[in-house]
Amino acid sequence: FRPTLLREQHYQYLKKGLRHLSDAYECLDASRPWLCFWILHSLELLEEPIPTAVASDVCQFLAHCQSPTGGFAGGPGQHAHLAPTYAAVNALCIIGTDEAYNIIDREKLLDFLWSVKQPDGSFVMHVGGEVDVRSAYCAASVASLTNILTPKLFEDTTNWILRCQNWEGGLSGVPGLEAHGGYTFCGTAALVILGKEHMLDLKALLRWVVSRQMRFEGGFQGRCNKLVDGCYSFWQAGLLPLLHRALFKEGESELSRQRWMFEQQALQEYILLCCQNPTGGLLDKPGKSRDFYHTCYCLSGLSIAQHFGNMDLHHEIILGREENRLAPTHPVYNICPEKVAQALQHFHRLPVPQDNRQPGTRAGV
Ligand SMILES: [Zn+2]
Repeated sequence: FRPTLLREQHYQYLKKGLRHLSDAYECLDASRPWLCFWILHSLELLEEPIPTAVASDVCQFLAHCQSPTGGFAGGPGQHAHLAPTYAAVNALCIIGTDEAYNIIDREKLLDFLWSVKQPDGSFVMHVGGEVDVRSAYCAASVASLTNILTPKLFEDTTNWILRCQNWEGGLSGVPGLEAHGGYTFCGTAALVILGKEHMLDLKALLRWVVSRQMRFEGGFQGRCNKLVDGCYSFWQAGLLPLLHRALFKEGESELSRQRWMFEQQALQEYILLCCQNPTGGLLDKPGKSRDFYHTCYCLSGLSIAQHFGNMDLHHEIILGREENRLAPTHPVYNICPEKVAQALQHFHRLPVPQDNRQPGTRAGV
């Protein structure tokens, strides 16, 4: 018995979703840049090319979501928000054409990031909105990909994120709450981008995250005493490449050169046996319905569980047939590593914008 990834079914499900994305004005849903990212990233993991015309339609749609004050909104005419900004920049980097890159107004994007920066180093999700550690990750991710990351913009952000690591070892959304997989990933990945991950208690974080892999199910839970959920295949398992690299940099000599510090086969088994809808799409757990969010993060987690290391040192552990193999994903940005390299190369040819901005201010105000 060999578990099988239902490639064709997932592809058909994603293709249908993609067609909807092209009808730019039909839907008022506030998370359409997210749909673009979830679908495009799932397709790149499956190594299914995006038709040129569709890619261009998605670019034009995202251009309409870009706010005149910088950053991207959940839909045309709405206010900019860090979450769709992250999703839109990632989606455009997956498309990776000049048309896609040129949509991003980097000067305005920097204005937007300053408008949500708080004096204590944290970020709010949108002007007047709530603070949590996701926003620091979204800001660091888009700023680093598009080469607008200035030291001033992230002043005190490291200290604020470090305060989110609690006695459990994981990170909470804001200092003082319960550790949670999504927030832990965001905080850790943001620190990796800022080059400060060594300031975390890495051993405590490692102990917390490996304890979230369920002994029986093989998948991960998001928090202590919660049920397994397919999307944590990325939010939790994605932490292990980040931790592996951080511990390696700290001179940890006991690290394996062939595998991450979690049960990679067991996670693949959970995703392939419990999270696939037989007609395409992936899900949280048996009995739940499929959606593009779980499709994206189950596949991303499956990719992490299949691939170890980077280009130089690369090991694969593929459960089931060889056709189950997905493309690797970048554990910081969660898009394919070549697309990260290509975006960095493109945007590093452009100068970093002058930065005399102040927290919580809008340009011209
Ligand atoms: Zn979930």
